[in-house]
Amino acid sequence: MTVERRPLIAGNWKMNGLAADGLALARALAAAPEGAADLLVCPPATLLAPVASILSGSPVALGAQDCHAREAGAHTGDLSAEMLADAGCAYVIAGHSERRAAHGESDAAVGAKAAAAHRAGLVAIVCVGETAAERDAGEAEAVVAASLLGSLPDSARPGNTVVAYEPVWAIGTGRTPTVDEVAAVHAALRAALGDRGAGMRILYGGSVKPDNAGALLAPCDVDGALVGGASLSAADFLAIAGAA
Ligand code: PEP
Repeated sequence: MTVERRPLIAGNWKMNGLAADGLALARALAAAPEGAADLLVCPPATLLAPVASILSGSPVALGAQDCHAREAGAHTGDLSAEMLADAGCAYVIAGHSERRAAHGESDAAVGAKAAAAHRAGLVAIVCVGETAAERDAGEAEAVVAASLLGSLPDSARPGNTVVAYEPVWAIGTGRTPTVDEVAAVHAALRAALGDRGAGMRILYGGSVKPDNAGALLAPCDVDGALVGGASLSAADFLAIAGAA
């Protein structure tokens, strides 16, 4: 049986965007005509509330870039999934490689964040990816499949979880795997998901641009993209969405 998975194009603005630029970007996306892909933007936390109000009534969804695993408490500087839902988010990214590297987030910690997202009614975007050394050693598929299974909480279902395959060496570098390499990893991740695999969206992320999006999003197991740098331009982000 073929399962239809509508593509999702998600923009991760990372630590970019003061109000003037971020809100103008959100306004441009909210005004764009609806296409064949679902659109999502993940601005910095400072812009979540105003972007939520700009996107309200538009088909563009709002997400956050990270959450704490706990609902509330003495965690200075952190935000709970419940707070993000309260601010208008429908999604939250868990385990982006920049957080895994800079904040020492393990698969187990990522899984706890994804479980927190589910507890708050958010969709968790769980990121996994191999390093250049792991790819060179021929271990990419095994590494990402093991990382995914270690990062998914028991609560993960197709309706509340999106997987993002993001090779660490492709993020922000302008380098990408070949289309065959992307297809092979996505097929391995789909297989590792077992019963949950048929309906769960698996995005590709890593230097997706308007000129490579059509090719990278073509394999049947690729259900959209997680876009960093190119999501800061409305024209580029919408061009990527148009290629999905
Ligand atoms: C990312 O950070 O998730 C990402 C994919 O970045 P870029 O598109 O800039 O490589």
